[in-house]
Amino acid sequence: MAHFCLSSRSMHFMMDAEQHHELSSFRGLAKAFEGLLLEANLIGSEWISDFGNGVLEVVDPAGGGVVGTVPRAGTADVRQAIEVAGAAFLKWRAEPARSRSEALQRWHDLIIEHRSNLAALLTAEQGKPLSEALAEIDYAASFVRWYAGEAERVSGRLALSANGLDVCSIQKVPVGVVAAITPWNAPSSMVTRKVAPALAAGCTVVLKPAESTPFSALALAKLALKAGIGPGVLNVVTGDAEAIGAVLTSSPIVRKISFTGSTRVALHLLSAASKSMKRVSLEAGGNAPFIVLPDADMDVAVTAAMVAKFRAGGQSCVAANRFLIAEERYEEFVERVTERVVALRTGSGHTDPDIGPVIDQNSAQRIGELIDEAVSAGARLICGGYRRGTAFVDPAVVRDVTPQMRIYHEEVFGPVATVSSFRDIETLVHDLNQEDTGLVAYLIGQDEAVANHLADRLEVGMVGINTGLVSDASMPFGGVKCSGLGREGGVEGIEAYLEAKYIKTARQELEISVPKRELGQS
Ligand code: ADP
Repeated sequence: MAHFCLSSRSMHFMMDAEQHHELSSFRGLAKAFEGLLLEANLIGSEWISDFGNGVLEVVDPAGGGVVGTVPRAGTADVRQAIEVAGAAFLKWRAEPARSRSEALQRWHDLIIEHRSNLAALLTAEQGKPLSEALAEIDYAASFVRWYAGEAERVSGRLALSANGLDVCSIQKVPVGVVAAITPWNAPSSMVTRKVAPALAAGCTVVLKPAESTPFSALALAKLALKAGIGPGVLNVVTGDAEAIGAVLTSSPIVRKISFTGSTRVALHLLSAASKSMKRVSLEAGGNAPFIVLPDADMDVAVTAAMVAKFRAGGQSCVAANRFLIAEERYEEFVERVTERVVALRTGSGHTDPDIGPVIDQNSAQRIGELIDEAVSAGARLICGGYRRGTAFVDPAVVRDVTPQMRIYHEEVFGPVATVSSFRDIETLVHDLNQEDTGLVAYLIGQDEAVANHLADRLEVGMVGINTGLVSDASMPFGGVKCSGLGREGGVEGIEAYLEAKYIKTARQELEISVPKRELGQS
């Protein structure tokens, strides 16, 4: 297991000896992900490498060239994948829960067996440091393990109607074929966070991974097949997002859309899915505030800040997007965090630095523009910044940010800590609650009663008190307002793939005749 080393000067993962061995034994990437780099789509049990529409290139964000290509699925191909998933649904839903659970457990075990290969692949296409990629594979596997367990615990009930006349059965039934659309920032764990509960519930899936990171999803699908998850239960299509999205949202066979990505696309999918009243689970942007209260333990604050901001290079919807510091602790926080940030090493993910590249040059340039705009409006860049013409942003601290600046309201999605001070916490919470996002908030303070009171008041789906990490497969992850709809993970996560169906059987009016001689007997 990889762990965040919460007490070190620079942020890094602690690796055990076995992991060190895994990383150092990668002799060239081709060997590292041998057999799991699949330049094809999976429909049923068929791997299709050419639909006749050309291919998409997947490039190493660190500037290391083309990792591979995947086919562009056309409208008819996506329809076929949906039909195959529809046919497989009839068989998969009828399997005993225990056999679905066992298949998921085998999938989990194969993911763990291949974790080094999957991590190398993830780093190649996504760019994150290898030890973070290994940690993501473990996190991805944890959803499969959790829902292997939950599969057996889905149960209905018998209930007496309120008038006392009928005993009815209430069953939990799978919603049907699910379209899962996943992002590039966590290309393995976002797949299992959706696919594992869907499969556990008895649904089948058509998965569309992000254009820039399809290989992690395809590799996981190969392992699912190998685990005995039947043909057609999990299908993967790649290609043009809009075109595939249009087929998925308009198909009458697809009964649910599960999406993680930008708020813009989430709103688009919500509207498209509403036309046929498909179920939706949406997880979108966060703009998470990280609040340091006057009584904060500064060691805890800085450690949590480094995790909340610089894990995955800040490319996470739960990344702390703005540090809001009680004014009497402001200078101390800026100084302590800057000390840690300048110690972070940046490099290609395969060299296992602290910070890899961001996903592409456009993204790095956008981050550079956000910093420039803030600086020209009066903020100060203390360290780091955009390296022109590359996908690298050196870990940065921007202080004296104000709510008037774009960087305060827009998700940075990169290794940039923006810092502001506040005078009155009640006003701050009130102002934060006026915003239209509400995924996660972090609170650092020693008085737990105060922190819990603020946690109650903040309009968000999740709160981390004295921690910079809330993600956990066994807990419900999700946001309120424009940050999302529904929850993933925990016991709540499987409910998103189930419907309650109630069956009432009319009672026969029975004439009960009691033999006369029995009357009066005690
Ligand atoms: P980002 O801006 O971080 O790339 P997006 O929301 O664009 O986030 O992407 C998240 C996922 O949504 C990706 O798999 C992407 O291909 C997909 N996607 C983007 N646009 C659409 C669309 N119109 N319909 C369906 N999926 C889409």
